[in-house]
Amino acid sequence: MSEGESKPPLKKVGVGALFVGALALFYWSWAANVSEPLIERGRYCIACKQATSTDDYLKDYPKNWRRHPQGGDTGLVCASCNKGVAFLTADCETCQVVFLVDYLPKYDNDGNHVCPKCDAAYGKLAASKGVDLMPKLLNPGTP
Ligand SMILES: [Zn+2]
Ligand SMILES: [Zn+2]
Repeated sequence: MSEGESKPPLKKVGVGALFVGALALFYWSWAANVSEPLIERGRYCIACKQATSTDDYLKDYPKNWRRHPQGGDTGLVCASCNKGVAFLTADCETCQVVFLVDYLPKYDNDGNHVCPKCDAAYGKLAASKGVDLMPKLLNPGTP
């Protein structure tokens, strides 16, 4: 009987270790997904039309990290001209165009920013308002 009694606790340890392992794997993939784009993503100022790196704003943090009143959720005061809005940029996984987020934001059902090139109606609406969501500087290959 003693052998039978020792089995259940062993099983529990095995399941527990598996659970911790799965949790660690989940956290690892989550961290890899979330932390990368924040550093690599660039910014673009609509006033001086210069591209800046988000790293420029992290220097001397939080002194250079100033929210712009017209910048929505992510727009900062431009590090280049110190005046305009430097919007965060994103690149579309489907068409590879680089566009500005939070300039005239539009979201899909999952809460992701909509690409102004793939969603032609959105791109047209932005253009009709004089909002350049896909600056040439960020998309040198496009006509
Ligand atoms: Zn600027
Ligand atoms: Zn697209």
